[in-house]
Amino acid sequence: REPGKPLLEVRGVSKRFGGLTAVDNADLTVREGSITALIGPNGSGKTTLFNLISGGLTADSGEIRFDGQRIDTLPPWTRGHLGLGRTYQVTRLFKNMTVQENVVAPLPDARWRTMLSGAVKGHEAERARELLDLVGLGRMAHQPAGALSYGQQKLVELAQVLMLEPRLILLDEPAGGVNPSLLDRLTEVIREVNARGVTFLVVEHNIPLVLDLCDPVIVFSRGAALAEGPPEIIRQDPLVLDAYLGE
Ligand code: ADP
Repeated sequence: REPGKPLLEVRGVSKRFGGLTAVDNADLTVREGSITALIGPNGSGKTTLFNLISGGLTADSGEIRFDGQRIDTLPPWTRGHLGLGRTYQVTRLFKNMTVQENVVAPLPDARWRTMLSGAVKGHEAERARELLDLVGLGRMAHQPAGALSYGQQKLVELAQVLMLEPRLILLDEPAGGVNPSLLDRLTEVIREVNARGVTFLVVEHNIPLVLDLCDPVIVFSRGAALAEGPPEIIRQDPLVLDAYLGE
């Protein structure tokens, strides 16, 4: 695939927690249309970087651009409206609400309207249903989210983030805790959504899955990108092996 234009650009970004530099003058680019991986040992700063990009944390220095526009000073919800979506390591669904209600929950006021009317209606319901079908959970639409397996809940979260029609999705350990029988579906769904034009940046510890799904792969170490390349190169890079063995 031809690499697209830069959609997300991180330039000289740093974040300190007291005396600890979690992200250290980091530079990276995510190109439109890619499924880019961000891998690296525990504590290398990946989660902190995700939080800086999505807006949960503010950088001490540097710039973050989304589609050319600076976003590092914007609040998280504004970044969301611009087309930046994310999922979390641990699912954050409302366990007592139905799967479908969860999928529409990120829409402005949807939660309240749902609670008042007692049902998800009209266009929103249709769109939620399409997205649930896409992740293979259409038949679970009216089950409480808490009744689903952990892996199914992760797929619901993907449908939920798609409800806002993002251009870039940050996936934080999508395969973590997902049983092997659902992993194939998860990768298929990510590929399918990507084929529809959505770009991904993925933090994931399952390296075989990363090497199968992602291109390019960015290796993070000590708060900055250490190497970047196609999976077949990264697999053999001595720097990468070192970064992992040095964990
Ligand atoms: P990764 O996601 O690659 O495992 P993190 O971004 O979670 O790495 O952590 C990077 C470093 O920053 C670690 O040393 C971690 O202990 C530290 N860190 C992360 N968040 C905080 C915080 N809120 N306060 C203090 N230290 C933190």
